[in-house]
Amino acid sequence: MKQGRPGKWRSTSAIVLVLALIVGLFFIPSWFERYVLAEALPHLPDSEVPPPGYEAASSPLGLPPASNGSTAFVLQESPDPGQPFVAYDPCRPVHYVVRPDLAPPGTDQLIREAVSAVSAATGLQFVYDGPTAEAPAKDREAYQPDRYGKKWAPILIAWSTPEESPDLAGRVAGFGGSSSIQVPGEPYVYVTGQVQLDAPGLSETMTFPNGPALVRAIIMHELAHVVGLDHVNDPTQLMYEENNGQVGFGAGDRAGLALLGTGECVPNV
Ligand SMILES: [Zn+2]
Repeated sequence: MKQGRPGKWRSTSAIVLVLALIVGLFFIPSWFERYVLAEALPHLPDSEVPPPGYEAASSPLGLPPASNGSTAFVLQESPDPGQPFVAYDPCRPVHYVVRPDLAPPGTDQLIREAVSAVSAATGLQFVYDGPTAEAPAKDREAYQPDRYGKKWAPILIAWSTPEESPDLAGRVAGFGGSSSIQVPGEPYVYVTGQVQLDAPGLSETMTFPNGPALVRAIIMHELAHVVGLDHVNDPTQLMYEENNGQVGFGAGDRAGLALLGTGECVPNV
């Protein structure tokens, strides 16, 4: 998202890392590079993916509200045309960490509230794993066992600057997206994601009338990208590319988030 004139900000397109595990051997981040997993299943100590099924329950941990029927939402494009959408596995908790460096005062609470709003709208159960020193990066590794243990890295919410993250230059106040993986015979599933927030810009936004609510809305917008929504061409929705002052999810946003809470459980990931 962007910050600039009070009451109006734009958002960048979500950045979605698509990782495909093809015949168990190739792990393909969509952005920059391809590399070969130097191992085959089952899990080996030097694996580039964690052991499958960490914390996976046999049924969803939560359920989204019934859809309100709105169609005013757009889902992130699925890498598989036969799979309508990609989502997080609802049968396991969705972990997140925050890099708090440069965070504007008072925004810890805004992050918690934004996460709660996305959790309520999707049924996904989020767990805060605490602060991290991990820096945001476009090519962030989805599996970082030295830092986070033998499980998928948690979603990283990082306060950053345009100097560190050039995509935050100009009026961009944040962006977000997730990485998906597929194992043979299973649907693509998101395994981790990232939100980058422009600390200097949002520090200024915090001083606007209704500033904290706007910053919370920006975080909600980016988290909605993380769980699978794209921009919608409807200025009454929070997922519209430009904000017209709305500080909460609209009906379309909520319908999309409810759908994204109905992903398949994928214990083999
Ligand atoms: Zn956006």
